[in-house]
Amino acid sequence: MNNIVVIGSCNIDLTVLANKRPKAGETFLGEGLNTSPGGKGANQAVAAAKLGAHVTMVGCIGQDTYGDMMLKNLKQYGIDTTYLVRRDTVPTGTAHITLAEGDNSIIVILGANATVDEAVVDNAWPAIAKADLVLLQNEIPLATIGYAITRCADANIPVLLNPAPAASLNSAWLDKVTYLTPNEHELSALYPGVSQEEVLRTVKPQLLITLGKRGVGYNNKGTLSIVPGFTVTPVDTTGAGDTFNGAFAAAIVRGETMEQAIRYGNAAAALSIQKLGAQEGMPFEDEVATFMK
Ligand code: ADP
Repeated sequence: MNNIVVIGSCNIDLTVLANKRPKAGETFLGEGLNTSPGGKGANQAVAAAKLGAHVTMVGCIGQDTYGDMMLKNLKQYGIDTTYLVRRDTVPTGTAHITLAEGDNSIIVILGANATVDEAVVDNAWPAIAKADLVLLQNEIPLATIGYAITRCADANIPVLLNPAPAASLNSAWLDKVTYLTPNEHELSALYPGVSQEEVLRTVKPQLLITLGKRGVGYNNKGTLSIVPGFTVTPVDTTGAGDTFNGAFAAAIVRGETMEQAIRYGNAAAALSIQKLGAQEGMPFEDEVATFMK
């Protein structure tokens, strides 16, 4: 009982460090460039793998240097890439990040992530059929998310949907999800105009609302119970949500209870934000164990 399948995005993050942001038509010299693997799918896969889960990554990358980089990185963490499809007509997805004046601005080019279709899910079915939990996020086409949720539900395979970035999703799909993990903003995009109290009383999935440093709230018999976050001094909160999701998933497939798994996810996320970089900052199993003692 330790198999996680992630069906999601793979991006290479290209972060330009600069003292200011260029205006339209302006050119100046920047301070540096950081190239690192990312994408919510790949990030959550790495988070779970670093914490001891057996992880398979399902998605699409290009037949290019960034695709090679992604593949090498996933394999380095022991992630099974058998069902990562290489496309020769589109590039690997990229996130173009400008880090200036203490703030991010980001342009994402979906590239191969836009080609994650039903056939990619069907092709990976041998692995998905053996999964103890399937992880999905909103960085692949929504129709594919719906297809994956429905096919998994029909086969009684539990699904965790991290509905990020915020999007409106078909409620019939949401009803079939086992764990739904929005932040507060993503929650209101899912259930527009519905009060949090009513959402808590009525939604079918087990809801886990990530609340930043406050921790995570979950619906416990129709009301919100909070598992508090760990108090740390954040250095870089990029990927906190991804670390939480990967770590929660790793704990759930190991057989931990909801509350234990949330606490484990909070601990892993708190450790990750004390280091720079999304994946490099994610902790290994022994680090979380020591931190939680
Ligand atoms: P997202 O980045 O997806 O919006 P959150 O900001 O809610 O997600 O963070 C996800 C999880 O990371 C939180 O539920 C919490 O466990 C942890 N976390 C985030 N920020 C902090 C912080 N400042 N201190 C401690 N834990 C944090």
